[in-house]
Amino acid sequence: MSVTISRQCPASRRFASLLFMILLLTAGYADEAIKVPLQTRRAWDYDRPEVHFDCHFSGARLNGCEQLGTNEFRVLITPENEPINNSPWYAFKVRAAQRQTITLDLVNTYALQRGRPWLSVDGKNWHVADREQYANRVSAHPPVLRLAIGPEPVWVAAWDIVSLPQINDWMEALASRAGVEIHSAGNSIEGRPLRYFILGAATNAGLVFVIGRQHPPEITGTIGLERFVETLAGDTPLAREYRRHFQTVVVPVVNPDGVEHGHWRSNLGGVDLNRDWQDFSQPETRAVRDLFLKLAAATGGGPQLFLDFHSTGTNIFYAQPEAPGDRLPGFADRWLAGLRAQLPAFGFERDDRHNATLATGKDWVHGQWHIPSLTCEFGYQTDRLLIQHAGEMEAVGVMKLLLARFGQ
Ligand SMILES: [Zn+2]
Repeated sequence: MSVTISRQCPASRRFASLLFMILLLTAGYADEAIKVPLQTRRAWDYDRPEVHFDCHFSGARLNGCEQLGTNEFRVLITPENEPINNSPWYAFKVRAAQRQTITLDLVNTYALQRGRPWLSVDGKNWHVADREQYANRVSAHPPVLRLAIGPEPVWVAAWDIVSLPQINDWMEALASRAGVEIHSAGNSIEGRPLRYFILGAATNAGLVFVIGRQHPPEITGTIGLERFVETLAGDTPLAREYRRHFQTVVVPVVNPDGVEHGHWRSNLGGVDLNRDWQDFSQPETRAVRDLFLKLAAATGGGPQLFLDFHSTGTNIFYAQPEAPGDRLPGFADRWLAGLRAQLPAFGFERDDRHNATLATGKDWVHGQWHIPSLTCEFGYQTDRLLIQHAGEMEAVGVMKLLLARFGQ
């Protein structure tokens, strides 16, 4: 018996060490596991009257549906985890066999509704529901939307959707126009590529980092980012001169899984990625960090500017407070003064204390390279054309300031 055991020992040890390695590997990947309940993509079909709801599209979120009476329904909206920011995202489609008007109780299990829903008949062109359509009484009763529906689906969402496929299309169109390639910095938890491109030659000494959509529902940040980047890529003397000196690294979607699944805030690890820039516990933040470190090392001089595009209640910049020895001192002052003078209607606000010591992207970049690091927030309800105008002005201001300081 003992002989048998001793003969088996090497094999057992090999098995044990194999098991140990598997455990180690599993532990290594434990942080990359899906830690939030995934929304079920499904339809809700009713017979009398014949009405259909569904969340079968990229960026959709609908967590439950129930018929309360003829033409009366209740939809359930829940976040991916709690506690969470009050950015209650929902997006679904509804249609009916016969034209009719239904009422929808919007039951939010976590937060108060921010405002009237947005509606669309094609998922691209959106308008805010009329005041008469929407009753949000401050009482025990949830907000009620009155909606005319028919055989063509109506899209209902917290605000307009800028989905992952739409952003990918935008990237491809811009990259082909600008003659640049799209790369991947790594993969999200669910294996989506963290796509980026670089405007300007790899030999350019200047380096600017632009990121967006760490937070899934913050679509006005994407609208601002897209116009900002289009302006840098534009065929103007200023943009051409800027691209002769600078590389601009653009990562439009840092949280592609969250955007795809219609999350309120987190990635699939249940982590707010813009609080993960100290621990780097998530593959998305690690991949973007590693890309930035690699490019900064390749240029030698490090980056000059970091901008992170988001959405919140107002149009505001969260600038990292300047410290002695920072590069480009006074950049935020001059940039914002110029923007306010050119576009007073936008009401650019600024707050240097907001989240200054949390593990945000701007905090990490500032600590790493001592450069201007700003979160550019666009209001959820700010006019979309005004956001595009502001994005363009922001890009013009950045190019002028950086060229004045670094251009030859
Ligand atoms: Zn945000």
